[in-house]
Amino acid sequence: MNPLSLLREDLSGFAGYRSARSEPVDGNVWLNANESPWANLAIGSESVRRYPEPQPASLRWALAALYGCDADQLLIGRGSDEAIDLLVRAFCTPGRDAVLVTPPVFGMYAVCARLQDARVLEVPLTDAADDFRVDLDAVVRAAREGSARLVFLCSPGNPAGGTLSMEVVVRIARELEGVAMVVVDEAYVEYADSSSLVDGVQRQPNLAVLRTLSKAHALAGARVGCLIADARVIAALRQCQAPYPVPTPSLALALQALSPPALEQTRAHVAEVVRERQRMHAALSGLPAIIRIYPSQANFLLVRLADPDRALLSLRDVGIVVRDMRAMPQLGDALRITIGTPAQNERVLEALRVLEQVEA
Ligand SMILES: *Cc1c(COP(=O)(O)O)cnc(C)c1O
Repeated sequence: MNPLSLLREDLSGFAGYRSARSEPVDGNVWLNANESPWANLAIGSESVRRYPEPQPASLRWALAALYGCDADQLLIGRGSDEAIDLLVRAFCTPGRDAVLVTPPVFGMYAVCARLQDARVLEVPLTDAADDFRVDLDAVVRAAREGSARLVFLCSPGNPAGGTLSMEVVVRIARELEGVAMVVVDEAYVEYADSSSLVDGVQRQPNLAVLRTLSKAHALAGARVGCLIADARVIAALRQCQAPYPVPTPSLALALQALSPPALEQTRAHVAEVVRERQRMHAALSGLPAIIRIYPSQANFLLVRLADPDRALLSLRDVGIVVRDMRAMPQLGDALRITIGTPAQNERVLEALRVLEQVEA
């Protein structure tokens, strides 16, 4: 199956913008891009004077090595948010095609769909006794019946933190061959016991994976994320992307963050978050004000509370801001708490324990 058959027909043959950096050229006096011949005096670095490589080879190789894919299966974007937007733009004909999402879930998929005038098909997660679950058969059925060109799954899921297995995702993708791309957002997979689905991309050409340096790698401000997919899909999406999507300072930061010593420290921080997540889960479970905590494989916990307003106030009184999830479907009593440092987590627990005493 050639996944390019799922792309917008009206974009076939579209070559995008040819920038001064599109073609490799030789020379030592570069007067082809109307750049300034002098560096900005306020800035120490000379390199930022030039337009950057559209897909810097050094970062492509580093990310491909980190994620275990080929460099030509990887598209670097301004966060995985940009990759989500590109997917929707390239695969959904406005006013006709649809995007399938499984709420409650990360909001960007539906936002990008709205901006593209793509319909949004919703197959709600089912709140089973042990966790939120994806209704696989319903996803496949709704995608087929509603002309979904993209199915967004999130694993670990935001906001509950549950994971999907390789078998499940590959099965959905196989059943949707020739119908839709299945995109698995793995923004939090570094914190999970289960491994990434990047390997599945080799097996299923209509499967794609989103990864980001924003969370575990502590680089949210640099805006570096990527899409891993069939090389033909990556090449087609490159044509739809802005000419210079990787700012030079972000490239430098990303390469620093992917150096062996930095990766070692990242792994240690991830391990600490996982330990703290387990500790927080256990400690919060003991508080009567907490109705339910979802088992999370990410760096946050979704909790249902007897009185979320009072919990928010109590947390705010000591300066702690958590995410109010109550506007989301099925989450009318829920907050999402990011795992912080041990000291920060302790303050969260204190604020929620105080609440208990007031209620008693
Ligand atoms: C945080 C997050 C992202 C990351 O987006 P970036 O643009 O890479 O910062 C992607 N998906 C989900 C589900 C997230 O929670």
